[in-house]
Amino acid sequence: MILDFKEIPEANKGTGLQDTFELFSRDFLSFLGYRIVQDPDRGPDGKKDLIVDEVIPGITSEYTIRWLVSCKHFAHSGNSVKDSDEINISERLKQHNCDGFMGVYSTIAAATLTGVLSGQNKSVIFDREKIESYLLGSLEGHKLACRYFPESFKKYQIENPTPAKIFGEESVICCDYCGKNLLLESEHGNYVMLKEEDFKNDGYQKQYKDIYFACCGGCDSILENKFREKGMYYCGWEAIDELCNPTIWLMRFMAFVNGIQKEQDLSDVAFEKMKKVFINTFPYVARHLTQKEHDRVKSLLFYDLL
Ligand SMILES: [Zn+2]
Repeated sequence: MILDFKEIPEANKGTGLQDTFELFSRDFLSFLGYRIVQDPDRGPDGKKDLIVDEVIPGITSEYTIRWLVSCKHFAHSGNSVKDSDEINISERLKQHNCDGFMGVYSTIAAATLTGVLSGQNKSVIFDREKIESYLLGSLEGHKLACRYFPESFKKYQIENPTPAKIFGEESVICCDYCGKNLLLESEHGNYVMLKEEDFKNDGYQKQYKDIYFACCGGCDSILENKFREKGMYYCGWEAIDELCNPTIWLMRFMAFVNGIQKEQDLSDVAFEKMKKVFINTFPYVARHLTQKEHDRVKSLLFYDLL
């Protein structure tokens, strides 16, 4: 598990206050798209069930499944939720006019409970693993995780960095053959530097004539052949995903700048492509800008300067 459910405090026994886990459950279900019908307020009987609607749209009308939600926060003891923790399910459904039973648990459901629930017409359990995968699966979910699991989510973020929001659009470096975005985590690709032959000296020209971007599959050799036909030859490469490492990015960038200082020759085309590499990998190595910084940058027409 990545998220530590013990970060959510144990239930306030007898204080009459809403428990944090119930509030979390409400926010979690609302994030999933359920409509909250009854907030988790505690009645005089101590029952603290939540009621949510699942609205299923049809073509001309919609219909609603009303769920009775039971929130159980056993993370601190680590116990699973047993059938004896969820008594009289059918009666509770009838009492609240609900169609189905939903459990939101910070641990897991014991086999005894899933056995009882399999006899129910409609039931669903969100246990800790399901909750975690929903929360970590989207940016909206990250916001919720950050609010209720600040410590464990912070650790997760350090190990799973996402590109900073710096440009209006997602940054892309596409394979020049198949068009796949090589900056996506699932892709691997290189930028390949090309030079022309120097017939007089039986070698290559000093100037880098062009650069192409290629994924690591067959596209690289197809592009290499295509450029060879134009008289441009492979003269070095770098992995694009390596450049998403902040330290390596800075090292490569400094090498690039030093190269310019030493009059390392790049054609205008190659120079523009190197700029493209650094600009589009920058969000991966930079942090998010604060709103104030973002506004300041905008006012400087930063985008136009690039
Ligand atoms: Zn490709």
